[in-house]
Amino acid sequence: MKDLHELFSEQLADLYDAEKQLVKALPKMAENAASSELESAFREHLEQTQTHVERLEEVFEILSKQPKGKKCEAMAGLLAEAKEMMEDAEPNVKDAALIAAAQKVEHYEIASYGCLRTWADLLEIDQASMLLQETLDEEKETDEKLTDIAASINVEAREERDEVESSSKRAGRKQSRAR
Ligand code: FE
Ligand code: FE
Repeated sequence: MKDLHELFSEQLADLYDAEKQLVKALPKMAENAASSELESAFREHLEQTQTHVERLEEVFEILSKQPKGKKCEAMAGLLAEAKEMMEDAEPNVKDAALIAAAQKVEHYEIASYGCLRTWADLLEIDQASMLLQETLDEEKETDEKLTDIAASINVEAREERDEVESSSKRAGRKQSRAR
């Protein structure tokens, strides 16, 4: 990498791929959410994420480049962990895990957009800076919204433990009656 301009282009391609991976993953995350509030938050962010992809395409255009992604290993890793966390979990615990996974993704995006926006300012690509800032603001809002949703879901996830214990006791009683 010889200069900031090159770094900017390279990271833009990385983020473009990251956003496209997320467009594919969010419908699955929405389907897996037990809470309807969480599900609609994911569906809403899916729509925003499609706009994020389009904004990045506009940034490529500003640079007179064809939009082209470069595999973002970080996002692939975050999404692989998200998938792992969703498997074999009780509904409320799964939601708590989904929120954690989604917030890790948002924080990754916030860091990425923050850097790109700063570099766009330094390179005086004003139109790109504006577009990147718009998305950055939406990522931050999403992160805050997830924190709000987590406030109720984490409590329900904690209560899941009591429910699992009492239902296994109920199942135990049924078994002993059957015998
Ligand atoms: Fe995004
Ligand atoms: Fe996002």
